[in-house]
Amino acid sequence: MIRGVRLPASTQRRSSSRSARRSVSPARKRASASSGSASDLSIGVDIGGTKMLGVAVDRSDRIVAEARVLTPHAALDPVEPHAVGSEELGGPHDHSSVDVRNAGRSVGVGVGVGVGVGVGVEVADAVAEVVESLHHQLEGHSASPPRGPGRRSSAVHVPVGVGAPGMLDREGVLRFSPNLQGATGADLRTLVADRLAGTPVVVENDANCAALAELRLGAVRGAADALVVTLGTGIGGGIVSGDRVLVGAFGFAGEIGHMVVDPSGPPCPCGRRGCWERYASGGGLARLAREAAYAGRLNEVVALAGGDPELVRGEDVTRAARRGDAGALGVMDELGWWIALGLTNLTAVLDPERIVLGGGLGEAEEMVLVPTRRAFAHLVEGSGARPDVEIVVAELGERAGAVGAAMVARAGGLG
Ligand SMILES: [Zn+2]
Repeated sequence: MIRGVRLPASTQRRSSSRSARRSVSPARKRASASSGSASDLSIGVDIGGTKMLGVAVDRSDRIVAEARVLTPHAALDPVEPHAVGSEELGGPHDHSSVDVRNAGRSVGVGVGVGVGVGVGVEVADAVAEVVESLHHQLEGHSASPPRGPGRRSSAVHVPVGVGAPGMLDREGVLRFSPNLQGATGADLRTLVADRLAGTPVVVENDANCAALAELRLGAVRGAADALVVTLGTGIGGGIVSGDRVLVGAFGFAGEIGHMVVDPSGPPCPCGRRGCWERYASGGGLARLAREAAYAGRLNEVVALAGGDPELVRGEDVTRAARRGDAGALGVMDELGWWIALGLTNLTAVLDPERIVLGGGLGEAEEMVLVPTRRAFAHLVEGSGARPDVEIVVAELGERAGAVGAAMVARAGGLG
């Protein structure tokens, strides 16, 4: 648990004109930070692939409590992928059993009727567990709900935001989620709200939440048009346009990891082939590394990994690249090219002034940034004739999604 952690940015600076839409005045923020009530707090929970991270923040977006639990295993991938390679989760999935048009309508009918219903219940239970843990911690905080039997009902004043991976509609129904397939179809907003005794609950896409946090507190500050690209196991995207996070007509904007960059490429958990995230993510790096290992271009790295090319992991490559291993640097160049390919396509559509890279790969910083910037300059349309697009690393780290979800909770939604 972390108390009083100050995010690495000045929120006072952020709360002026550009963010007035969702923020209170700087003076009010300063006042509430020291003498808040429960209504000054908000809670955000980020549903990750392996863990759920929850935070409670005050009006200054300062984290006052933090909790985490494991994401229910069943949510991850109940549809056994057809193994193509150990990292290629894909296989030609048949999604005919998931009717996106009616997804979520069967909530409450029972386990087994819709794939996402039972698992959605497990996910909602885990979210509620995180929130309860935060409530317990807040009891010791000056701005907390009161202790005792009334605690739970008092806590309804602390709004809850949930960030979930995949296509969330405006009602909080998880319509489709390649990386949280077990919960596809679940009405997450209702499921979570039912477990929190009337607490206002908002559910948004996790990457959009992270983008909001980076916009208000982190690396996007000062850029009204930007991209936030989370390079984790897959790719999450948040599009900042005109100082707002774009949600789109149905709430599905920013699914950038599933832009197809090679129609004959490796299968993707979304059911198609050659999605960008099969190349330009942590999983993509592992695949590129294995290919290089089998081709004999990573002999030292293979030796350190135990001699089996199949055992080479992405982090083995980034570590070797830091040491100057030529083969590993070659793989990082390749990865940078694939990242840049998607970024230049997005730049052609969106014309951002800044691109922020986060997630596990973003934290590899220069090892990823340098080859990405180099390839971007080469690939972007009008290279040399257009203003440079800054490509920088995210600032808020693993808490970006949870903090953004708490901001969404306070505002009542993204859009
Ligand atoms: Zn895909």
